[in-house]
Amino acid sequence: MTVLVTGGAGYIGSHMVWALLDAGEDVAVIDRLSTGFRWALPAEAKFYEGDIADEALHAKVFTENTIEAIIHFAGSIIVPESVADPLSYYENNTVKSRALIAAAVKYKVPYFVFSSTAAVYGTPQSPEPVLETAMLNPESPYGSSKLMTETMLRDTANAHDFTYTALRYFNVAGADPKGRTGQSTVGATHLIKVAGEAALGKRGHIDVFGTDYPTADGTCVRDYIHVSDLANAHLKALERMRAGGDSLVANCGYGTGFSVLEVLETVTKVHGKSFDVRYVGRRAGDAVMIVANPGLAKQELNWQPKYDDLDFIVKTALDWEAHLGRRNDR
Ligand code: UDP
Repeated sequence: MTVLVTGGAGYIGSHMVWALLDAGEDVAVIDRLSTGFRWALPAEAKFYEGDIADEALHAKVFTENTIEAIIHFAGSIIVPESVADPLSYYENNTVKSRALIAAAVKYKVPYFVFSSTAAVYGTPQSPEPVLETAMLNPESPYGSSKLMTETMLRDTANAHDFTYTALRYFNVAGADPKGRTGQSTVGATHLIKVAGEAALGKRGHIDVFGTDYPTADGTCVRDYIHVSDLANAHLKALERMRAGGDSLVANCGYGTGFSVLEVLETVTKVHGKSFDVRYVGRRAGDAVMIVANPGLAKQELNWQPKYDDLDFIVKTALDWEAHLGRRNDR
């Protein structure tokens, strides 16, 4: 039995591949290498280069392997890009996911884990950590494109012998504590990655997008989760479905919020040197504040975060950034 990881050469996907191999699973990967890297994949993972919606590739992957579960990461992930180019987000995240779900039904794959996002909530109506039952009100095409996939999964699970877990990720950051993989995307936009690049002198400065939000220091608040804890939640989801658990939608975050300025202070502290920070206007599509209530994941998945410490998240991100700086194949 093999676990198929889509987007396995990407940031979160490559951490998942390592976590599965560490747990003794057989792994196959589909990735078209549009943003991922072949070198991010361990040799033990069977690699298929191509598109997740390609039916000829499905025929090959699903007949060459007995796929027991699909863990689906492939997709586009940048909120402001989705505002500027919504149709490519609906294509990549929704239309292509539909093709992959259809393949799961066709080839009788019983389990599916989906990378969903806190962006399905938009800005929650209360400042309390958000529960899965909160109103779903995405503020960007990115969030909508993911919510549509959640809906397809729900309806497919009602109609077919198919169980899914949708994990709503909060802000994923950091890198493998063993240094085997990390966030390697060129032109990355996510805060901790960009701050790491600025700290290491790979970019001249970092912009803070908006200082007039209704938060304690005027900058947006997010719940940053270490990528290895997130990968572990997927393993737990798989374990639970194998044991007969029903379909589930669960938040993946720690329940603690940090503002953009708090994150930048942490990066400065952990790095030990300051870097150029500039204050600019708001960025399109940003929710003011979003923090997870992770109770359901802890209870249902028996998930216990190990790295819920912003200093550690930042340290592993900086270590990876320094490692990337020493590589010459990118
Ligand atoms: N942010 C920022 N400067 C950057 C990147 C991000 O001020 O260079 C802010 C962004 O406006 C948001 C927060 O950091 O308030 C988290 O953004 P990110 O892109 O990391 O994740 P998102 O929450 O959009 O998925």
